[in-house]
Formats: sequence, C-alpha cells, structure tokens
Amino acid sequence: MKYLSTRGGMPPKTFTEILLGGLATDGGLTIPDAYPKLSKEEFAAMRGMNYRELAFEVIRRFADDIPADDLKAILDKTYTAEIFRSDDITPVKTLEPGLHILGLSYGPTLAFKDVAMQLLGNLFEYVLERENAEINILGATSGDTGSAAEYAMRGKKRVKVFMLSPLGRMSPFQTAQMYSLQEANIFNIAVKGVFDDCQDIVKAVSNDLEFKAKYKIGAVNSINWARVTAQIVYYFKAYFAVTKHNGEEVSFSVPSGNFGNVCAGHIARQMGLPIRKLVVATNENDVLDEFFRSGAYRPRAESKHTSSPSMDISKASNFERFVYDLVGRDPAVVKALWQQVDAGGSFDLAKTPYFAQVKNFGMESGSSSHADRLATIRRIYQQYGTMIDTHTADGVKVALEHREAGIPMICLETALPAKFEETIREALGRDPERPAELADLERSPQHYEVMSPDVEAVKAFIVAHCG
Ligand SMILES: *Cc1c(COP(=O)(O)O)cnc(C)c1O
Repeated sequence: MKYLSTRGGMPPKTFTEILLGGLATDGGLTIPDAYPKLSKEEFAAMRGMNYRELAFEVIRRFADDIPADDLKAILDKTYTAEIFRSDDITPVKTLEPGLHILGLSYGPTLAFKDVAMQLLGNLFEYVLERENAEINILGATSGDTGSAAEYAMRGKKRVKVFMLSPLGRMSPFQTAQMYSLQEANIFNIAVKGVFDDCQDIVKAVSNDLEFKAKYKIGAVNSINWARVTAQIVYYFKAYFAVTKHNGEEVSFSVPSGNFGNVCAGHIARQMGLPIRKLVVATNENDVLDEFFRSGAYRPRAESKHTSSPSMDISKASNFERFVYDLVGRDPAVVKALWQQVDAGGSFDLAKTPYFAQVKNFGMESGSSSHADRLATIRRIYQQYGTMIDTHTADGVKVALEHREAGIPMICLETALPAKFEETIREALGRDPERPAELADLERSPQHYEVMSPDVEAVKAFIVAHCG
C-alpha cells in the first residue's frame, strides 16, 4: 500500500514512513492510494475472530511493510485484558433490542483514545528500535489526548513526552491522571494560561524547523494515520457482536470533534462493512453538523467551552480525509478548498455535485446542547440503568433521532462517566462509579513543572531534558 497526500504534493510513502510524521510534506493529510476491499470469503472468515485476530486482519492491510509476525506480536501485546479490563477489549452493551453501546473506554485513561494510542506506543517503540532513532513528542492537551498519549508512551524506550496543559483548568481527575505518572520519560508542563496558549507554544516550537530537527520533535495528534487505522477495527468488532449474518446492515452514531473516529467508520464502510448510516454527533461546536446539513464548512475562530469538552473544536482536523473521498479523490480540488480554509476562510459544496454524494457515503448528523446531555444521561439511566458520560450522551441523543426500524443502532461510548463527575452529579444527583484501582487517584503524588506561556522557556526545558 502506498500513502499519498490529500493535496497531491507528496511522493508515495509506506506505512512506517508516515508513522512518526504529522502532516504530509505539502500540508495535506496522508491517505492510502486505495482502500482494501474485503472479499465475501475474507469477510466471512472474520466473524468469530477475537479482537487481536480482527485487528491483525484489518491493520495488516494498511501496515503492509511491517512483517506479519512482528505486527502480530505488537497487536498481541497491545490488546490484552490486563490493559483493557476484558478480553473483549471493546464490549457491546445492549440497552434494548436494536440499540447498543459500544464500550471503547476501558483502557488506562477511560476514554476511547486509548484504543489507538496504546497501539501507537508499541508501534513507535518497534520502528524506533528498528531504525535506531529517537523521538521527543511535544503536545498540548485540554485533557483526554495528553493523558492517552502519556499512558501509551510511559516507560517506552527512545521516546520522551513533553505535554503542555493549562494549569488548573482540567478536571481534578484528568489532572491527577496525567500528573501522577512517575516515569522518567514523561514531562508534564503546566502552563500559566489557557489551552490555546499551550497550543500556540507547540506550534511555535514546531515551526522552528532547525530546533524541530535537532531535537527530534514529533507529535501524536489526531491526524496521525496509525490512530485512524487502529480505530477501524472496533467497527468490525461491533458489527459481528450485534448481527448474526454478514449482509445485515447496522448504523453507528459517533460523538465527533476532530473527525478521527468517524473517519475510521467511513473507511470500514469503504472496505465493505455493511454500514447503513454513520451519524456524526457534535455538541454546541457544530461545524461538522452544519456541513452535513448544509454543505458549508465554516471553521470557527474559537471553540465554545462545553460539558463534553473533548469535542470542543473549531475545525475538524481529519475532515480533509473524508472530503478527499467526497470529491472523487481529486487532490487539486482538495488543495483549492483548503487554500481557503488555511487562509481563515470557509467553503460551500451545497451547489456542487459533490454534496449529493454525502448520502451515498451514509453520512448524517445532528448536534446537542448541555440541556440535551443532561436529559439523555437521565433518560438512559432511568430507562436502562446504564450511566453514560457527556460525550456518549451527545452521540445517543443524535442516534435516537436517526434510528430506523429493523436496523441496529450502535452508539460509540467515547469516555466513562467517572471522567466527568461534575456533569453526572448535575444530571443524576449522584457520583459515577470509578474503577477500583483509581479510587485514590487524586491523592497520588503529582509531578509537573509550572511555566509561563513562554516559547523560549519551553524550548530551554526540552533542551535541558533531551541530553
Ligand atoms: C477525542 C474525543 C472525542 C472526539 O473524537 P474525534 O476523533 O476527535 O472526532 C469524543 N469523545 C471523547 C471522550 C474524546 O476524548
């Protein structure tokens, strides 16, 4: 398999060549030259496979420059009951016939990002070892991404993580989750400022190409192709869990921000998984919902702070991958559209033949408000005795609006309620349950460096700890 750029300006590369990188060299996103199509026989053989076997069947087609035995070993080490709390890895819970929750949040940080990030940690270690190289991951987080990255990279050889977070602005649980890590390769930098200050520093450091090369600065953000690949697997797992025969259709509802998760669903569908609808659910930050309803993609200047904070985005960084397929994989069209976006503008496909294609890709959408989230959390708890988190609630709310008779609807659970106690208390008047081993999390000693929002100071810190 060869990887190209959505904007057409990158020579073809292999999976491991794009693994450690971020954007394609021309500013686009990396994308396979064609999606693998499963034959009827191959698809039939997948029913009955466990998570690790399924992961191998899916991922080997994308990571075809990693020897099969090596990839198998990496997957066997990643998707274990020890790390994901059950051998199912992503268990399905049935609320009522035809309505399901796909549990993606049983990894170490209780959010779905662990599913992909845990694999990324092991892939990084493997490739860096093979190439005798090192990487220093620099990132900014408002909560979920940073902790998933740290838990995936903790203790890994040849990898250091420098994670910037806004001092005092994450939930006590999220703060404790990150800052309590003891590993010597994890550096938490608490910036006296807001998330945007953290992100600006990361951008400034990454734009210093000389510094970036000298100190081997890398990223693990949501555009990373391997993360998308890892997420394709659980669409298959869920499909087999809720159907009896191949050929039955199912729909998925996906709480969305940067469009990484639902992009994986789109690719599963392109590979031949019988997905009827992919329902894109947003919160008040509804750039994606607006696009799927109207054809206009209008990134906002700022995102709103909501009670489903991991979906608070002003533009959806993986969306370009979907648009590439939508416009018939024509990089010149994508390049022209993103010239407008990168200049701070927007585009509108409403009156183009492209927008009519959205239906053929099965995409629908909806959005939800804080009041909707509270009502949905209450309804699901009262009706089924199941507690869901605020992001999952956004997905369930929109799923119920798009459900069809006879078609199973699978709602992706992207975090556990324990991560968002405050809103759960507001909705239900009680605390969510926590996995027993995290009962005393906030009482663990915390390690972090407090810094001003100062690019030079952050660079100096990296230099001092990279020697
Ligand atoms: C990151 C995240 C999302 C959004 O996923 P995308 O892949 O960015 O669309 C939704 N819910 C939770 C809990 C998350 O951490």
